Amino acid sequence: MTITAHDVDHLRRCVELAREALAAGDQPFGSLLVSGDGTVLFEDRNRVRDGDATRHPEFEISRWAANHLDPAGRAAATVYTSGEHCPMCAASHGWVGLGRIVFATSGGQLAGWLREWGAPAAPVAVLPITQIVPGARTEGPVPEFEHEVRALYRDCFAPDTPG
Ligand code: ZN
Repeated sequence: MTITAHDVDHLRRCVELAREALAAGDQPFGSLLVSGDGTVLFEDRNRVRDGDATRHPEFEISRWAANHLDPAGRAAATVYTSGEHCPMCAASHGWVGLGRIVFATSGGQLAGWLREWGAPAAPVAVLPITQIVPGARTEGPVPEFEHEVRALYRDCFAPDTPG
């Protein structure tokens, strides 16, 4: 499967949510859960500001899906996200049996940018989703979002770094 115009629209909403998160003092990540028939079921953004570093939107999506969708509905759903799942979120995705994942930027891109800026690395390893969930169907990164998401990350993780 390739990236469609619908995918790009959903990713654009994820990046908007990431921007809202950053403006609220959280980290710039946003995600959507879309049903097999294309309906947006749930959306969330990062909410780590108050000290719970597990408040990632992809993790909230897994929880929501476990509580609201049957196994077939979960498998048919797609998760869109501004930044590729961390291992915690990837594992939650695998455990609840969600379907396709489309991400705007990859974990490897974020890790590389943090190194470039001299910013601290995340305390959890950066691994491709498919190393955590071997059967996951993933697509990304999507180049048209790279510049915008990189700028959000820079403002959050290395605000004193130019460019
Ligand atoms: Zn995560």
